Amino acid sequence: MAKRDYYEVLGVSRDASEQDIKKAYRRLARQYHPDVNKEDPDAEAKFKEIGEAYKVLSNAEARARYDQFGHAAFEGAGAAGGGAGGPFGGGFGGFEGFDDIFDMFFGGAQGRRPTGPRQGDDLRYDLELDFVDAALGIETEIEVPRTEKCPHCKGNQAEPGTPIRDCTRCGGTGEQRQVRQTAFGRFVNVTPCPECRGEGKKVETPCMECAGAGVVRRRRTIKAKIPAGVDDGFRIRLSGEGGAGERGGPPGDLYIFISVRPHDFFERDGNDVICEVPISFVQAALGDELEVPTLHGSAKLRVPEGTQSGTRFRLRGQGISDPRGYGRGDQYVVTKVVTPTRLSAKQRELLKEFARLGGDKVEDERGFFDRVKDALKGGV
Ligand SMILES: [Zn+2]
Ligand SMILES: [Zn+2]
Repeated sequence: MAKRDYYEVLGVSRDASEQDIKKAYRRLARQYHPDVNKEDPDAEAKFKEIGEAYKVLSNAEARARYDQFGHAAFEGAGAAGGGAGGPFGGGFGGFEGFDDIFDMFFGGAQGRRPTGPRQGDDLRYDLELDFVDAALGIETEIEVPRTEKCPHCKGNQAEPGTPIRDCTRCGGTGEQRQVRQTAFGRFVNVTPCPECRGEGKKVETPCMECAGAGVVRRRRTIKAKIPAGVDDGFRIRLSGEGGAGERGGPPGDLYIFISVRPHDFFERDGNDVICEVPISFVQAALGDELEVPTLHGSAKLRVPEGTQSGTRFRLRGQGISDPRGYGRGDQYVVTKVVTPTRLSAKQRELLKEFARLGGDKVEDERGFFDRVKDALKGGV
């Protein structure tokens, strides 16, 4: 279908003034508004065509481009289909969808159904977990206050066995249509029926259980399976466990927001676990086999002779399973050499002997301080 010339659509000459264009548009929009014009089966298409033409011709920049290039001026990406939105796909700014200009002129809200099914609310539940439970996963029960479909009336609001009739005011549509007289013509305004509040039905005897609300408030205990590896800020969605829907709509979802309590020994870094293990200076100097705690039990760790404080040892695969299934992290054991604070006379004697024998050690420390001095002189 070939596109009609915009001037022809609005029935104005090519040198028409802004005022003439606006006047022509208002007259035609009034004539073809689909809520007003019920006779012409093409009214809606014509109404769109008129709006499209007006949108271009009422904008000086767009009009100039149209005068020069015709419809080709607006046939950019996305405009190939040539539908109602077509001419506005090509790149010039300041153009919104057709609906905006419609709303601007006629006050909006036409045609949107105020009634119909509505999905229930999404709910949030904050769950604080122990470090180990978060790392290994846990099945737990949470108590969630929420609305549920009334079990007595099954959500239809009437006491079982009593009639539900179509609302007489709106004839069961749930809508109230009001014809409005505006400067641009007569328009139909659709609002929810005040008698039945958009339900379209009238209950004669409200349900005893829910007082006709169709929903009841419950504290519901829900089993929640928390996967291994969740961390602070992690969200778990339990589909359909949120608030009850309205007018036959589905329930919302429940989101569990995770926070994790810190642990006394373990610290988390991504999916790795870091654990500081104190060792004596004798173990550090001579080496030893340690028994260290992990999330998965205890593990043996061989620290070699001459281990320093702050050395990191990796226990492969002893970390946290990734909650999205990307393998498992490692555990890092960081040694912390503990200096003894209470020495017996005998120990003191032996240490003095140790120091006398290990004179090179003192020189080693000298060397360290000399290097620091050199570095400072060098302007570091
Ligand atoms: Zn009920
Ligand atoms: Zn009604």
